[in-house]
Amino acid sequence: MQTIIARSLPNLKKNLNNLKKNKKVGLVPTMGCIHDGHLALVEKSKKLKYFTVVTIFVNPAQFNNTNDLKSYPSQEKKDLEILKNNNVDLVFIPKVQQIYSAGYSTYVKEINYSDILCGRLRKNHFSGVLTIVLKLFLITKPYAAFFGEKDFQQLFLIKKMVKDLNVSVKIISVPTVRDNNGLALSSRNKLLNPKSLKLAKKINVHFRKIRHLHYKLTRDLESYLQKELKKNGFNDIEYLEVRESATLEHPVTIKDKKSLRVFIAVNLSGVRLIDNYKLK
Ligand code: AMP
Repeated sequence: MQTIIARSLPNLKKNLNNLKKNKKVGLVPTMGCIHDGHLALVEKSKKLKYFTVVTIFVNPAQFNNTNDLKSYPSQEKKDLEILKNNNVDLVFIPKVQQIYSAGYSTYVKEINYSDILCGRLRKNHFSGVLTIVLKLFLITKPYAAFFGEKDFQQLFLIKKMVKDLNVSVKIISVPTVRDNNGLALSSRNKLLNPKSLKLAKKINVHFRKIRHLHYKLTRDLESYLQKELKKNGFNDIEYLEVRESATLEHPVTIKDKKSLRVFIAVNLSGVRLIDNYKLK
């Protein structure tokens, strides 16, 4: 089967309308610069025999910093080659104007968990994320959609939106794909200079130790990790917090390590990286 490339809504619709009635769509939304993390989502969708649609769209609504948006890496030609080689059924690459037409003013807003962690300093970031995800659901009408645990808060909020708004799309999550050093794959890694990349590859070293630490209080574990990272060259930590995987609540004590994750965002020479690790 050839990979279909759709660049307009009518073209996408035509191709989806041509699908056999019993064929289920598996949606993999991305912002491009495809790497093995994205491909793990594709692989899962293909394994489930879904008609796999990958979208490539750098969503301006989720950026609150124009420089960050402008510098977001892009490699369309290479992306298409990779996606074709991985037997993706359809790639949808819309232009901004098709998604946000002139006068656009409707956004999805979650009000309890959007201003913590990645949303604390990035006002409206998750409103932008939820809006594009819901739009892509309405446009592609998937049976299932695939998201990575690397963006854990995003995954949490998408699951919440689907439940709260009765959206009938099955959300399937995929564990974080890492390189040999344990660095979570990310399109932004491409923006790191050699020195920052070397440092980024060390993040994992500090977090691997968590399993062997036995702190009773969350804030003691957090401050130990903060100190360790700062001592080792990470001097711009946006947040480092332990939270419940199921609820994103911030517990005072560490009772059941299995239910907790540590969430981190660091800035390395202007590039913002995020990750999260299970405590056990
Ligand atoms: P992005 O293009 O960064 O917006 O990511 C698109 C999708 O791929 C999101 O669901 C991400 O969580 C997921 N993703 C990105 N990096 C990874 C990774 N290293 N492992 C697993 N999933 C990932």
